[in-house]
Formats: sequence, structure tokens, C-alpha cells
Amino acid sequence: MANRYNHRQKHAVKLELQKQANIAAGSVADRFPTVSGIVIHMAYYRKAAIPLLMMRTVNICPASFAIFKMDCMIKTCDGGGFDLTSIVAKMVKTNAKVKKGVLVCQGTVDPLSPDHARIEYETVIQYKKASQDTV
Ligand SMILES: [Zn+2]
Repeated sequence: MANRYNHRQKHAVKLELQKQANIAAGSVADRFPTVSGIVIHMAYYRKAAIPLLMMRTVNICPASFAIFKMDCMIKTCDGGGFDLTSIVAKMVKTNAKVKKGVLVCQGTVDPLSPDHARIEYETVIQYKKASQDTV
């Protein structure tokens, strides 16, 4: 029983931390004022006979929180996920429009190995036209 209680508490703390992280991150409009929209295409893979788990597209508008962390699809994964926040930040800095890559989940899943899940992503950033001649 104690374990279950702790787990629920841990979950509540995690949600609260997530909320605070969202607020701290601010909106896309605040953090990346030159960006008019972001589209992230993702293919989720897991270590299995049929590795492709799902395809997903996330549309981010200027009013969205400037935090792009996707959850690991493996339910028992602890501390995992795919954080595209730094990738997006780097892209905006260099005015990059498209970037493809792979992220491997760093969470731990007992008894699975650390490479239990990964995503292949393609991030497309649209910039506001007026901002192109500034900076
Ligand atoms: Zn994971």
C-alpha cells in the first residue's frame, strides 16, 4: 500500500513539475518571436519484432508552450521521453527550416535495455516574413 501511495504522490509531483516547466518556458511567441508555426512529424519505434509503434504529427502555434517534450510510449518507462526543445531552439537560432534526426529514449524500463524506444523526427519551422530582415 505504501508503494501505491508513493507512486501516486510521485505522479502528482511530476504533473506539478511539468506545469511549472510549462510556465517557466513561456509561449512560443515569447521565446521564439520570429516563429509563426512549427510542425513536428514523428515516427515512434520500440525494440520489438514490429518496431513501428505509431506515426504522429504535432502542430505548434505561437500561443503554445515553448516546451517540446514528447512522452515515451512505453508505459513502464521511468524518466524517459523525447525532448525536442533544444533542437527547436538551435534551429531558430540558425534560421533552419527543416531538420531530421533520431532521438533515443534515455529512460529506464526494467527489464528492457536503454534502447527500448526511439523516434525519428522531422521538424519544420515556419518563420514570420517580416522578421527576416531583422537581426
Ligand atoms: Zn522510454
